[in-house]
Amino acid sequence: ATPMSIMVGTGRGAQLGVLVKGGESLQALSEIRTIAFDKTGTLTRGEPTVDGIWTPEQADAASQEEQALALAAAAESQSEHPLALAVLKAAEERGMTLPQTKSFDSVPGRGVHAQIQDHDGDGVRDVLLGNRELLQEQNVSLAPAATEAAEQYAGQGKTALYLAVDGTLAAVLALADTPRQESAEVLKKVHGLGIRTVMLTGDAEPAARAVAGQLGIDEVRARILPGDKADAVADLQRHGRIAMVGDGVNDAPALARADVGIAMGSGIDSAVEAGDVVLLRGGLDGLLTALELSRSVMRNIR
Ligand code: ADP
Ligand code: MG
Repeated sequence: ATPMSIMVGTGRGAQLGVLVKGGESLQALSEIRTIAFDKTGTLTRGEPTVDGIWTPEQADAASQEEQALALAAAAESQSEHPLALAVLKAAEERGMTLPQTKSFDSVPGRGVHAQIQDHDGDGVRDVLLGNRELLQEQNVSLAPAATEAAEQYAGQGKTALYLAVDGTLAAVLALADTPRQESAEVLKKVHGLGIRTVMLTGDAEPAARAVAGQLGIDEVRARILPGDKADAVADLQRHGRIAMVGDGVNDAPALARADVGIAMGSGIDSAVEAGDVVLLRGGLDGLLTALELSRSVMRNIR
């Protein structure tokens, strides 16, 4: 690659909303065989909404749902996770006053653990909200009906969150996050360039597979703990050069590890800093721009 053609390519990228931090990224991008994608906020909009609440007892279901949502929202009130924001928004939309949060711990890749002041009386409730592993680690037993409800949500591509109150399962919340409008088309064109696609997500397998199926992703690696995404990238590197596209705090090490890290411009600061390429226009279309740019720059050289 001549410095001149790379400079021209980088300049053109900037005009098209694709920030390329170093000339070598353009060259590397023309040689990648695989692209790994984060799910939430990258392939999907990253703005989940509460889309269903299941409670164990039939009687007085509406008030059980209300109570469950109030405790869930109180438990999430100090978390900045996109799922937390969705739970808080659902409570807000129903005009709820949240009980007081006495203590809060986030469990990365799992959920949250909080002590919540009881509405009526002076008791304190121990609240867990998160995935199946979170409850299993705390020895909360899961009734078959709860598992069934969660599986049904997951089959629809929704993330199921389990709520336990004082060690007993109290509800399953369904969080729906729709794919970005351009995702399917972008992936089709990526495949057309002969590039394999992989989804790397902390979400559970069935929800991940449902979204991957809608988008035609070649391979799914689900339930990846926040610290393990970079290792997954390293593992995929055994089959050739890899680019990683992501937006979240979990993605920064994986973006740094990939041959080319591509950050969504809407992502959090550490992801944008870790990226070699930043898609400034907010959607995934910029990925195609970057791939086409790298190919045309390298064609001019060879
Ligand atoms: P992703 O890679 O999809 O962005 P994360 O690693 O952030 O996922 O989270 C993985 C899983 O852990 C989520 O799908 C969810 O089940 C659970 N989780 C993480 N944080 C929270 C939270 N604040 N509230 C509820 N669940 C959470
Ligand atoms: Mg994300």
